Amino acid sequence: MSIDFEIPAEAKAVREKVRKWVHDECIPAEKELDTKPLKEVLGRLRAKARAQGLWCPFAPKEYGGMGLGPLANSLVQMELGESTLGALSMNTQGPDDASIMTIMTHATEHQKEKFLKPLLNGEKRICFSMTEKVAGGDATGMQTRAERDGNANYILNGEKWFTSSAGVADLALVMAKTDPNAPRHKQFSTFIVELPNPGYNIKRDIKTMAIEGPHAHALSGGHSEVEIKDLKVPAENLLGGEGNGFDMGQHRLAYGRLRHGMHNVAKAQRALDMATEYVTKRSTFGVLLADRQAVQFMLADCASQLYMARLMLLHIAYKAEKGLDLTQENSIAKVYLARMVHKVIDTAIQLHGALGYSQDLPLAKWYTEVRMQRLVDGPDEVHKWKVGRNVIKAFRKHGTTASAAGGDLI
Ligand SMILES: Cc1cc2nc3c(=O)[nH]c(=O)nc-3n(C[C@H](O)[C@H](O)[C@H](O)COP(=O)(O)OP(=O)(O)OC[C@H]3O[C@@H](n4cnc5c(N)ncnc54)[C@H](O)[C@@H]3O)c2cc1C
Repeated sequence: MSIDFEIPAEAKAVREKVRKWVHDECIPAEKELDTKPLKEVLGRLRAKARAQGLWCPFAPKEYGGMGLGPLANSLVQMELGESTLGALSMNTQGPDDASIMTIMTHATEHQKEKFLKPLLNGEKRICFSMTEKVAGGDATGMQTRAERDGNANYILNGEKWFTSSAGVADLALVMAKTDPNAPRHKQFSTFIVELPNPGYNIKRDIKTMAIEGPHAHALSGGHSEVEIKDLKVPAENLLGGEGNGFDMGQHRLAYGRLRHGMHNVAKAQRALDMATEYVTKRSTFGVLLADRQAVQFMLADCASQLYMARLMLLHIAYKAEKGLDLTQENSIAKVYLARMVHKVIDTAIQLHGALGYSQDLPLAKWYTEVRMQRLVDGPDEVHKWKVGRNVIKAFRKHGTTASAAGGDLI
């Protein structure tokens, strides 16, 4: 048998534990946020989660995490996305997690001691400053410069745009051009910057289309426009050597992309459950909505998309467990999962009627939040462009496109 969908007992057990955690602790705690400060609610949740061993699922045990492999971690993440507090409660929230992984892989022992430890302990948070107004989808257009000032420091000048969580971060990974004469992908380096910092000036939180709850800023710190002016960074804060910033950034985004997708499964599942509950109680024109075929078709479309989303993630987790290349699947899934969650939430809004459009339910908020996922970590079109080129490459090499279209599955 080449494919085995039996999930190992250990991974199943951890998924059950996290599902229970989210349902028994995180979802009820969301309501507490109406009356209590986030710090108090989250502090209590985190202490309780950690005491149960629910902490940094993606990090190895020697770093104080749960040491889960790609499959178990993706099962856990698929549960956590159901609650706003899920990932935060276990210190596995974006954008921090992907940056923590980058630091774990590339940092010196000194950097690990100084920066990684407090991040893994949940004492500090970290943001990622790559995108600039002049360069996003094609990040190689970044203009922020880093120039050496003797041996001790780099001086950075430029600007950044849409840095998520900068407002709550104690550290930033900042990408800047160190060598304009190097090949395009080798021009950039990544620096660990301690915040607040007079050279890293958060000019504003950019107002987006997302409906913001009362704790939006405390939870995620918004998306910031940043002026970088004579920012002095000690040379020892250069991460992973000069010229490696771009590759490091892409590697970081590869995980971030999928983690969004994993959370989307949980969110879409909750939206579909809500819609189904509503139609099983609501009658129009003398007939229960659940008994109408048109409604059943709508639910069926959502179920099909969720099923495909889960299969994609499981297949990718399988490839990751085996150390196989998953670039093509990563891009396909990134695009699919972002569209899937949007479609399912949209259907749930539709089936709830005016109530779905209201802010009495979380659906409207989720709808406006998930729209960003077709843009972040590379817009749909850039991924599809990449996927399409791989399809052509596969055809030219093998006379069939199967290897670029999941063909190694069967
Ligand atoms: C909510 C949010 C949070 C973000 N958080 C962060 C963060 O924490 N850190 C960070 O560094 N960045 C962050 N970003 C930035 C994000 O990664 C970029 O917005 C994204 O990469 C797109 O870049 P851009 O906005 O400059 O769009 P552009 O590159 O200007 O592209 C605009 C549009 O052109 C089209 N397009 C672009 N290239 C192609 C192509 N090759 N073929 C066909 N069509 C194409 C696409 O439709 C694309 O949406 C965030 C963005 C958002 C919206």
